[in-house]
Amino acid sequence: MEKRSWAEPYKIKMVELLKMTTLEERKKAIVDAGLNTFLLKSEDVYIDLLTDSGVGAMSDRQWAGIMMGDEAYAGSRNFYHMHDTIEEYYSYKYTVPTHQGRGAENILSQIMISEGDFVPGNMYFTTTRLHQEIAGGHFVDVIIDEAHIPDSEHPFKGNVDFIKLNKLVDEVGAEKIPYICIATCVNMAGGQPISLENLKQVRAWCDKYGIMLVHDMTRVAENAYFIQQREEGYQDKSVKEIVYEICALTDAATMSAKKDAIVNIGGFLAMNDKRLYEKACELVVVYEGLHTYGGMAGRDMEAMAIGIKESVQDNHMRARVGQVEYLGKLLDDEGVPVVKPYGGHAIFLNAREILPHIPQKHFPAQALAAALYVESGIRAMERGVVSAGRNQETGENFMPKLELVRLTIPRRVYTQAHMDVTAESVVRVMKNANKVKGLRFTYEPKMLRFFMGRFEEID
Ligand SMILES: *Cc1c(COP(=O)(O)O)cnc(C)c1O
Repeated sequence: MEKRSWAEPYKIKMVELLKMTTLEERKKAIVDAGLNTFLLKSEDVYIDLLTDSGVGAMSDRQWAGIMMGDEAYAGSRNFYHMHDTIEEYYSYKYTVPTHQGRGAENILSQIMISEGDFVPGNMYFTTTRLHQEIAGGHFVDVIIDEAHIPDSEHPFKGNVDFIKLNKLVDEVGAEKIPYICIATCVNMAGGQPISLENLKQVRAWCDKYGIMLVHDMTRVAENAYFIQQREEGYQDKSVKEIVYEICALTDAATMSAKKDAIVNIGGFLAMNDKRLYEKACELVVVYEGLHTYGGMAGRDMEAMAIGIKESVQDNHMRARVGQVEYLGKLLDDEGVPVVKPYGGHAIFLNAREILPHIPQKHFPAQALAAALYVESGIRAMERGVVSAGRNQETGENFMPKLELVRLTIPRRVYTQAHMDVTAESVVRVMKNANKVKGLRFTYEPKMLRFFMGRFEEID
């Protein structure tokens, strides 16, 4: 077959120079950082695959938008541009801007959740679950079992399992479920999509029980791309059309615009219900800012409006996901165990298999991320027992089935050569895996401990 590669639908106009470090410098830097890649100085990092959040490269049009900022306290022109763009592309009638995704989660959780409620979701997300818990709710995982199996090749690992969902209603009753939270391209499952068929069934289920359907739409465009590639009947639809169809099936959404919408900061809570909107407006002034800026500068709202339009272009998504697949395939060809199918925003290394000598209670994924940094200055992130945290009631560690290291690809930032270097480094660490030691906490924060926890090696 004639080969047709994905290539970037852009060219590079400006570059950011990187500092190259020595092995000795990196060994010192990771110890100073308590073996936590979140605590490294960015300057000491060569290829930064910590996250795809807020680290994308904005386009010349977005930068031009920055210059068009209307920094009025109230009623900024850029707010209306953003608001109208969200309605046009994502279907939601009302938008409350927030400083980022968790700001929206906080407001939504406070409005909707009462003490003792249950919030089902297709796998937890760190900040989402925490806000649900702070509001008095309990998160309940209703994702299909395949999502917890790293080498299951299920094309839609983000799907909801209705046996689990119905069991929850039977046990607690629909009145204890204020809403269901459905994430598109489920981050913690490895960037795995939900199918439109499954989402339509969730819609019908919500209608049956009178339960609201909330959309964590942080990665909706990536999800739409996978639907276009994999789901029967969507091959001829554009990413833009599929994104709209997904959103229109849901009642409200929280968004971290730092991901899909390719801005450095920003997010929103959007909805169709006017009463919910009015309540959100009351809270946004307490926690974020006036309802027409909510913690964002006018210029950032402008960049977001433009970023939303760019994010749903087929060419953009093909190169975006194409680059992730490229890295995944390099690693797979070398026999590195990675989560499959490859995710939309990241490749996840299976730390349990790479470091079989380290038991989960000694944080193999955390140790692997630290070792990768020392090897080559590549910064990755732990997504395993450290991220999962402790059960707030029993104090026990959650022991997730998935013990992963995430190599997250920022949008439009790195080249194919950076991916080559990354794959080579992972392979080198894996060859010397027996030298990697297990870890223990020297400092463990109570909440979201993966951000600021510190560790030492166990001999
Ligand atoms: C990043 C993220 C959030 C939180 O958004 P922030 O902008 O980091 O506050 C929520 N849900 C998902 C799925 C995310 O990836």
